[in-house]
Amino acid sequence: MTMGVSLPRKELFDVPEGVIYLDGNSLGVLPKGAAARAQKTITEEWGAQLIRAWNSAGWMALPQVVGDRIGELIGAPAGSVATGDTLSIKVYQALAAALKMRPERKVILSDNGNFPSDLYMAQGLISTLDQAHSLMIPAPEDVLESITEEVAVVMLTQVDYRTGRMHDMAAITKRAHEMGAVMIWDLAHSAGALEVDIAASGAEFAVGCTYKYLNGGPGAPAFIYVRPDIVDSIAPALSGWLGHDEPFAMEVNYRPALATERMRVGTPPILQLAVLQEALKAWDGVDMAELRAASERLSDLFVAEVEARCPQLTLASPRDADARGSQVSFAFEHGYAAIQALTARGVIGDFRAPNIMRFGFTPLYLDAADVVGAAEIIEDVMANELWRDPKYSVRSRVT
Ligand SMILES: *Cc1c(COP(=O)(O)O)cnc(C)c1O
Repeated sequence: MTMGVSLPRKELFDVPEGVIYLDGNSLGVLPKGAAARAQKTITEEWGAQLIRAWNSAGWMALPQVVGDRIGELIGAPAGSVATGDTLSIKVYQALAAALKMRPERKVILSDNGNFPSDLYMAQGLISTLDQAHSLMIPAPEDVLESITEEVAVVMLTQVDYRTGRMHDMAAITKRAHEMGAVMIWDLAHSAGALEVDIAASGAEFAVGCTYKYLNGGPGAPAFIYVRPDIVDSIAPALSGWLGHDEPFAMEVNYRPALATERMRVGTPPILQLAVLQEALKAWDGVDMAELRAASERLSDLFVAEVEARCPQLTLASPRDADARGSQVSFAFEHGYAAIQALTARGVIGDFRAPNIMRFGFTPLYLDAADVVGAAEIIEDVMANELWRDPKYSVRSRVT
């Protein structure tokens, strides 16, 4: 057995004094090297080298280099992961390509716990295609039996953003393939949170974002995986010049690049990619099995501590750590105000409508003392009804 570096690695991150950050599943914390890297990219590369930096500073290769590093974290071979754009765009691209692979079928199967943007992108694509496709969204537990020979594409997020409930990637992919459907996994709450072996799953596509557990910062680029044996036959719906086989040949007709690079669209976000590349260094030497074990220990401890201290809260996540991702949610009628009261006391989680208080566990920078410290503050807010202060009920744009 290989032993990874020991966790947590708090020394690699800047977490503000007095904050217990249980929101790394929404926006990861700032890696210590990020600011210097951004500064270097801006002054030494953009500033000094100007357009020459595309070659001299390796900008042109950066989307692929970063894609390969993400690939290592999700079990994808080199060259099979492209980066850029946002996750919503990558969902659209994967879904459009998948539907083209099954032109005779009209059903997209997802679930009603999926993140709204994934469902909205499917609805938009259906309307653009105008070919009588439909989107089916059964309850998550009914997905497996809903996969029939009518289904063109099964498109699911592995870890439910609200409850943390986890789909069985192997079993669902197997069933999808038995029924002749194409499989797309959204790894938004999986990449950097769990062991993922996307190649072993056999899924045709996977997508995800990098500003959650991968700490790439707000607006960091998304990623898309295409199974290498099918990539040659994939028709990109968003056929931009940087997905062309030879962008600088300036041909008038689109010719897709030979590999997953064809899923790129336009000019890559170099500043964000540079910061992301720096952020990904925190994963060097991390054993994903050890990370997962640490995540399960932290979230189990949190469930035990909060349930013992706060009878007002109802666990909304699977009790069995094996069945959930790296987050724990509790339902509470006044969840919005309670999250505001907690934030004011340095415990940052988030609220998801209608009544979910959600807490993410990131073993790279959290330990058991953080979990117990957070539980103590949650107990104070609940037992003393501190959430009743009217200032905590004023809604902000971002919850
Ligand atoms: C976070 C998240 C998104 C967000 O998409 P963006 O385009 O990056 O804003 C989409 N889907 C899922 C499942 C998510 O968890």
